[in-house]
Amino acid sequence: MPIAPLLLSIILVIAGIITVFLSSWAFFRRNVNGAGEFGLFMISVSIYIFGYALEVARSDLSGILDAIKFEYTGIPYVSFFLLLFVFRFTTGHAIKPLYIVLLLIIPILSTILVYTMPYHTLFYINPRVVAGKFFPVLTFEKGPFYMVRFFYQQILSVGAVALLIFHLPEVDKKRKAQVISMLFGICIPWSLVFFYYIGIIPSDIDINPFSSAVIGIIFSITIFKFGLFELVPKAREMAVDSIQEAFIVLDKFNVVKDMNSAISILCHIIKPEIGKKLPEESELSTKILHALLNNENKFEFMHQNSHTGNCYYQIKMYRVSKTPQSFEGVAILVSDVTEMRVLMKKLEHQATYDVLTDLYNRRYLMEAGRREIEVSKRNKTPLGIIMVDVDHFKKVNDTYGHHTGDLVLKQVAACLTSGTRRIDIAGRYGGEEFLIICPVAGSKDVLLVAERLRLLVENSKIQVENKLIQVTVSLGVHTLLVGDPIPEIEWLIEKADAGLYKAKNDGRNRVCHIE
Ligand code: GH3
Ligand code: MG
Ligand code: MG
Repeated sequence: MPIAPLLLSIILVIAGIITVFLSSWAFFRRNVNGAGEFGLFMISVSIYIFGYALEVARSDLSGILDAIKFEYTGIPYVSFFLLLFVFRFTTGHAIKPLYIVLLLIIPILSTILVYTMPYHTLFYINPRVVAGKFFPVLTFEKGPFYMVRFFYQQILSVGAVALLIFHLPEVDKKRKAQVISMLFGICIPWSLVFFYYIGIIPSDIDINPFSSAVIGIIFSITIFKFGLFELVPKAREMAVDSIQEAFIVLDKFNVVKDMNSAISILCHIIKPEIGKKLPEESELSTKILHALLNNENKFEFMHQNSHTGNCYYQIKMYRVSKTPQSFEGVAILVSDVTEMRVLMKKLEHQATYDVLTDLYNRRYLMEAGRREIEVSKRNKTPLGIIMVDVDHFKKVNDTYGHHTGDLVLKQVAACLTSGTRRIDIAGRYGGEEFLIICPVAGSKDVLLVAERLRLLVENSKIQVENKLIQVTVSLGVHTLLVGDPIPEIEWLIEKADAGLYKAKNDGRNRVCHIE
């Protein structure tokens, strides 16, 4: 073999080995965003390089054409995989499968046409071997599809450059250097055209395999230096994917840029799609956009659902901005807080209501009493207090058991609820004692209410195992009149209790008013 092609072949084999090494390096890290695309890019470059090494080594037409066939299982895909990688690098996502298929049409056709070249002139017209400056080279007239492939390849490379340029303003300083060196790498083949023109590079030698290898090396250095395939981005991705909160990233045009798998918790409310705007018909997205406009960072959202009950969500928003005035996008975290809300409601209910009778509990009664004293003082209105105690209740328990006693207490509570006004506050003061606070009720009104309650209880009978149980209540009443000194709630209760004591002493099942 003459020295020139031998030398060139050796250089090509070295370049080829480097690209194979880079592709395997990327494949070992292929679970990291972009590594797979980069590995495929490097494989297509190494096929191109080894094919060209074969082409250089041969001097006969059929040998050279065989080498070219091999080259064309790589060449048409170099720019394609480069674009795929740059797309992933700049957007964080793979190109959609449909677009991948469309983008592959011309490269696949190119491969097919090169393999079937004896049967048409779409690619090479009249291929023949002529003596070159250093070694025999293939020459031919370019068929129409040769030009289609050539321009298509240029378009894909321009696309990759455009993606990187548009990405440039979005990145921080560290990534900027990375993007610029990648731009520099992609532009190398174009700048070499200039050297062809001024004759520094002999026209016999195809420099593209070398420049593709150089792109690979530049990319690898930037990737290695800036840790693109490193642990941290992958770990972050995994962490974001494993959290229970739904995570969505919107750009400044409200287009969804990223989301995690927990987004499925929101499937009945909103179905965002990467690359598309947040669905406008969703109530949640309206709320999110409203909060963004109003500079709110946190809000709660309730979704009414007649089947599963209401769902509650907490939304936290983290704005991404380079300056305090600018807005680049927003990261949104949505947590399902339904369980917590339901539990809180239950706790709130338990803190306010009595478990057995579902009337207000003593704590709430005292609070309400204090509040109503203030209201009656401010509005100069009277306030009535009624203390109710079940007569001989111990006997009910002793005769019918504790459970029946409980049912009786529930029945008395129901009477107290039905016999009082909406604004009255009826609660269980303790044991078998009840307290009723009657706002805006003078002595006469309170006595009327108390008497009505007494009658209601007396006339309501509770059936237990074929027996009708009847209980009565004694009631002590006191009224805080307009102009009276403002007392503590405890004092008012003591007064009503004194009335109750008197009612008991007077024979039970009666109302006694204490001035
Ligand atoms: P009086 O007419 O003087 O009020 O007599 P009484 O038997 O009603 O009064 P006493 O204070 O002697 O008894 C009250 C009883 O109420 C004693 C207690 O065991 C019962 N009791 C208190 N809380 C409950 C409850 O939640 N359920 C039941 N079943 N009984 C209760
Ligand atoms: Mg009692
Ligand atoms: Mg009693």
